[in-house]
Amino acid sequence: AALTDVDVVVVGAGVTGLTAATRLTKAGHSVVVLEARDRIGGRLWTDTIDGVRLELGGQWVSPDQSALLETLDELGLKTFSRYREGSSVYVGRDGVRRTFDGAAFPVSEYTEAEVDRLTVLLDQLAGQMDPLSPWDLPGAAELDRISFSTWLEQQTDDVEARDNIALYIGPAMLTKPAHSFSALSAVLMAASAGSFSHLVDADFILDQRVEGGLQQVPLLLAGQLGDRVITGTPVTSIAWDADGATVNGTWRAKRVIVAVPPTLVSRIGFSPSLPPVHMQARQHTSFGIVLKLHITYPTPFWREDGLSGTAFSPYQVVHESYDNTNHDETRGTLVGFVSDENADELLRLSPDERRARTLASLAAYYGEKALEPEAYYESQWMAEEWTAGAYATSFDIGGLTRYGATLREPVGPLSFGTSDVAGLGFQHVDGAIRVGRMLADSI
Ligand code: FAD
Repeated sequence: AALTDVDVVVVGAGVTGLTAATRLTKAGHSVVVLEARDRIGGRLWTDTIDGVRLELGGQWVSPDQSALLETLDELGLKTFSRYREGSSVYVGRDGVRRTFDGAAFPVSEYTEAEVDRLTVLLDQLAGQMDPLSPWDLPGAAELDRISFSTWLEQQTDDVEARDNIALYIGPAMLTKPAHSFSALSAVLMAASAGSFSHLVDADFILDQRVEGGLQQVPLLLAGQLGDRVITGTPVTSIAWDADGATVNGTWRAKRVIVAVPPTLVSRIGFSPSLPPVHMQARQHTSFGIVLKLHITYPTPFWREDGLSGTAFSPYQVVHESYDNTNHDETRGTLVGFVSDENADELLRLSPDERRARTLASLAAYYGEKALEPEAYYESQWMAEEWTAGAYATSFDIGGLTRYGATLREPVGPLSFGTSDVAGLGFQHVDGAIRVGRMLADSI
């Protein structure tokens, strides 16, 4: 069959691929975007379930995410603030529920002092790191060969301080247990968000949402690209040489941008195969695991109780939860997260048992009314063939220094990228936009 010639084939219609395709099209290149799913947006997906419009994937925008904020502006999208009037809730290691105002959890004076000390230490390390090259941080090799939990044990004897610091990076961000990723990866997470203090401050990191949902970004970008975006087309083969590549035996391109998570690159048959170090590097990355729970009630009852809806505990299966009511809704919706080993445990239960466990956790935060929702839905990205985890991928211990740079190296006419190889905005939509721009500019 005759081949269709284009300048660039982009694999994947997530934010990374669509940002790259948009920039290349504006620069006058002919582009086709091939997307495996029947829909646009990858890890961004808004859907109406049981009459509630839910953001099943990424949704929040924070003030440091300037690339995303610029894109929202260009696309004419409006944001709104998460509801945050009133007190937050914390359940401590003693199992006692306490309400609090401001960012500092209600813990003992000693624990609070230790949390503050570790926060300063992590801010210093993050401040010294260029998130685009974490392996250049002085002492990077040492920090990459120990787990974040081991590092925390070396810093403080206070268990509750360790559990809280671990929470911000493990369950809340990488969605892996703190013993399974390195201290260097933890510092990268902080540096990529501007500082560790930003991760601690829910009002900062979960500041704004987009009216109509964050999936509007890829949907509008794809709309502008029109019939250059082809869905329902998994890329299964790329034959390449110095002059270009043939994709799925159908498209002939001078360059190919593979804009998929590193864990999915091996689903493509490359001929010739990628160089050995490339084959290895991606095997040292993996997705975390998290259940995103969407629970809707007849009213946002917690507000009447003087609560913002914000709740945390390293000791509850739902380790964090927020008011996630849409800007145009009268019912009240909470969003809660069950991460890493808690998610492993809950996924072995039946759906009914799982629901009972998560609602009990919400009742520990908001009281008995939390047990009677009108609608309940779990986003399970682990079961999505073209993602297979959440929120994003990260390296195993030692992997970042050993293979981090490789993930951004081109091979002949092939370039690779996704939010998970970003510096600023690592594992976030902001990072996807930054990487998409870099990939386009390299062409
Ligand atoms: P993806 O969105 O994964 O896009 C890759 C695309 O490639 C997909 O569409 C996939 O179907 C396609 N694909 C894969 N393989 C092939 C193939 N062989 N052929 C063709 N197509 C292929 N970020 C935030 O900024 N804020 C948040 O609040 C936030 N919360 C999140 C909550 C959840 C539950 C999840 C899952 C993610 C969250 N994120 C959040 C992360 C954010 O969604 C991602 O960082 C970002 O969307 C990644 O974009 P991407 O284009 O790099 O990758």
